Amino acid sequence: MDDSTAREQHDVIDLELDRPHSARMYDYFLGGVTNFPADREAAARAIAAFPSTLIAARSNRAFMRRSTRCLAQLGIEQFLDIGTGIPTSPNLHEVAQSVVPRARVVYTDNDPIVLTHARALLRSRPEGATAYMHADVTDPAGLLAHHVLRGTLDFHRPIALSLNALLHFVTDEHHDAHGIVESLKAALPSGSALVVSHATPDFDPEAIARVTAIYRAAGTPVQARTREEIARFFTGWELLDPGLRPILRWRPDPEEAHLTFTDAEAACYAGVARKP
Ligand code: SAH
Repeated sequence: MDDSTAREQHDVIDLELDRPHSARMYDYFLGGVTNFPADREAAARAIAAFPSTLIAARSNRAFMRRSTRCLAQLGIEQFLDIGTGIPTSPNLHEVAQSVVPRARVVYTDNDPIVLTHARALLRSRPEGATAYMHADVTDPAGLLAHHVLRGTLDFHRPIALSLNALLHFVTDEHHDAHGIVESLKAALPSGSALVVSHATPDFDPEAIARVTAIYRAAGTPVQARTREEIARFFTGWELLDPGLRPILRWRPDPEEAHLTFTDAEAACYAGVARKP
């Protein structure tokens, strides 16, 4: 029995409430209620070091909505969202199924608290499907072999893989982030898509160094990457217009034109590519 099956069957979950977790800090930034004192303390330190952390988190959610809508409009009906985070409406399947009601979505995260809230991710439209699995992106082979994934998505048809605000938690010091992404890409058929948003030091290096140090001190290694390092995640695939861009500039929504955040405040690059 694998780890996630054990969790599903026995429901004995250690939430490790005594230490901060990135998913719960992110939930706090978004104004959610699924966070605990250790998360709020670390989040408050992050906000003190980088006051626009909340803007960065909101910009990421907005990019998820825009990129998902775009891919659904291009005809993609299957989605794999790794590092999905604590549910926060609208979730990816709500956006995808508003365009393609029969869209099928697999969500995954390695924070057990996301598993405990996964029910909110499973309210699929009847024509489509959603599923949740507890998995770690640093074990791509295990993730790809998971029975929930194999039972929900058809690997002979295009799949949109989203790695939003995830890869900066996969540090070169501990893991081969680019190798992991290549393993995931290799498993997907032609016509699939890769969606990445990623923190960058390019616009405000001092602030990003400060906030990175706070995460590290809290026990969560973070690595912001340069545009060039992030671009390498897309190697061999064809970037959709407008390419890898500061996150606010990836197909901005006219409805959000009133938002006047800067690239330094959002502090992320974002891009979408298709597999030839
Ligand atoms: N994708 C969402 C949430 C980003 S927050 C969004 O963009 O809005 C980052 C998420 O990645 C958290 O939920 C965290 O638990 C998850 N995460 C961090 N490291 C991970 C890993 N090794 N495997 C799977 N998920 C991970």
